Amino acid sequence: MELDGRLVNSIFINGEWQAAASGNIKDVYNPSTMEKIKAFSYGGKTEANEAVEAAKAAFPLWSAKTARERSTLLYKAYHTMLERKEAIATILTTEQGKPLAEARGEIESAASYLLWYAEEANRLYGETIPSSHPHKRFFVIPQPIGVIAAITPWNFPASMITRKLGPALAAGCTVVLKPASQTPLTAIAIVKVFEDAGFPKGVLNLVTGDAAAIGDAFMENEDVRLITFTGSTAVGKLLMRGSAANVKKLSLELGGHAPIIVFADADLDLAVKMSLLSKFRNCGQTCICANRIYVHDSIEKDFREKLIKQLKLMKLGNGLEEQVEIGPLIDEHAVRKVKEQVDDALSKGAILEYGGKAWNGELQGHFFEPTVISNVTDEMKVMSEETFGPLLPIQTFDQEAEAIAKANDTQYGLAAYLFTENIHRALRVMEKLEYGIIGINDVFPAAAEAPFGGIKQSGQGKEGGREGIIEFVEMKYVSMGIK
Ligand code: ADP
Repeated sequence: MELDGRLVNSIFINGEWQAAASGNIKDVYNPSTMEKIKAFSYGGKTEANEAVEAAKAAFPLWSAKTARERSTLLYKAYHTMLERKEAIATILTTEQGKPLAEARGEIESAASYLLWYAEEANRLYGETIPSSHPHKRFFVIPQPIGVIAAITPWNFPASMITRKLGPALAAGCTVVLKPASQTPLTAIAIVKVFEDAGFPKGVLNLVTGDAAAIGDAFMENEDVRLITFTGSTAVGKLLMRGSAANVKKLSLELGGHAPIIVFADADLDLAVKMSLLSKFRNCGQTCICANRIYVHDSIEKDFREKLIKQLKLMKLGNGLEEQVEIGPLIDEHAVRKVKEQVDDALSKGAILEYGGKAWNGELQGHFFEPTVISNVTDEMKVMSEETFGPLLPIQTFDQEAEAIAKANDTQYGLAAYLFTENIHRALRVMEKLEYGIIGINDVFPAAAEAPFGGIKQSGQGKEGGREGIIEFVEMKYVSMGIK
C-alpha cells in the first residue's frame, strides 16, 4: 500500500480525507537518515470538534448493529491488515526507526487485537442478580459508553492504536483517533485498513495535528465520554485534571520503570538473553522495557560478561536493513536524555562497561550506542527516572527482600520481571511486587488476550483481554417489578 504524493491529506472525518482548515502541514522525518518523508495535515480544535460531531452522529447506528455485524467488520479489518503487513511495516520503520523485523512483529501484534476483539464482541455478556425481593428482578446490561477519544504514542504506532480501536469498536463505541505527530503515516495506513474493510462513515475518525489543541478539545467537548491515552505520566495527569470538569472517564497507560531481578538460582543464559531483548528492543523506547537490572552479587560478573559479549554482536543502523537489530532513537531530545543519564551515573561513580555515546556511523540519524554501566547506586537518575533509551544499568543485591524493596521503590507500577528457577521464590516475589504486570522468566507479557495495565502513577484501566472491552461499556443496572 502506498501513501500517494509527498503531501498527505491525513485528516479523516465522516469518511472524507481532508486537509487542515488552516492549511497547516508538518513534516515527517526518518529518524535513521533525517530525510523528510512526507508532510501531513496539522489540524487543531476545529477538526477535533468536527470529528467528535461525526462520531456522535454515527453512534446510534453503530451501537445498534448486532455484535455479530461489528465482529464481522473487525474480522475483515484483521485480514486486511495482515495482507498489508509488509507495506505497513515498511512505513512504520521509515518514520519510527525500529528494525523491520520488529515492525513486522508489531503489525502482527496490532492485528491480533482486532482478531481478539472481533471474538470478544460476541461475548459481552450481562448478568442477572438473584433478587432479595420476591417481586423484583435485577439485571445488568453492558452498553457502549459513546464517543471515545484515543490518543496514541509513537513508540508502537500500530499496536497502541488497534489495542484501543479493537475493543472500542467491538463494544459499539465510535472513535476519534489522535496519533503522535512523529508517526502519523502508520496511523493513516491503519485507518485506511478500517475504511477499506467497510466500517460506516463517522465510526472511526482521524485527526492529526497539534496535540495540546486537540487534547483540549477532547477534554472540553462533553460529547467525548472517555479518553483513552497511552503516553507520558505528565500528559496523563494533565488529561486527568482537564477531564475533571466534565467528570469524563479515562483509561491511561502511562510511563514505566521496570526492574529485572536476576536471582542466583536463575537460568543465567535465559536471563542474559531476555535482559538484552527487553532493554534494546525498540532501542529501549518501550514503557515495559527493563529500566534497571538487579543481579545477585554471586553471579553479577558472569551475567555482565555474557551480556556484553552478546551485545557486541548486535548491529546498530537503519532499521530498513535486514541485519540491523537496534535502530535510532525517535529524536534529538531522546538522545540528549540518555546522554544526560549516562553522564550523571558516571559522575556519581558508575563504571562504563560498553557504549556510552551518540553514534552516527554513515548516517545522520538519532543514534545512541547501546550502553551498559555497572557499580550503579540508587542516587543515579537512571535508577529513578524512565530512560526510554538504550542504557542498561546493573546494580547488585544480596537478599531477596532487599531486591523486592528496591524494585518497589518508585512511583511507577507498570511491569516488573524476575528470573529464578525456584518456584517458591517465583511465587513469593511475584506476590510482593507492586506492579500491574509481572514477567516470571519472561519479558514479553503483552498479548491480546491478557489484561495489560499499570498501577500507581503508571495509569489506570486495562488494555487487552476481557477487561479491555469492559473499559468501553457502562454497566446499566435494571430493576424490574413483576406482578
Ligand atoms: P512522549 O514523551 O512519549 O512523546 P507524550 O505523552 O508527550 O509522550 O505523547 C503521547 C501522545 O500524547 C502523543 O500522541 C502526543 O501527541 C500526545 N500529547 C502530547 N501532549 C499532549 C497534550 N497536552 N494533550 C493531549 N495529548 C498530548
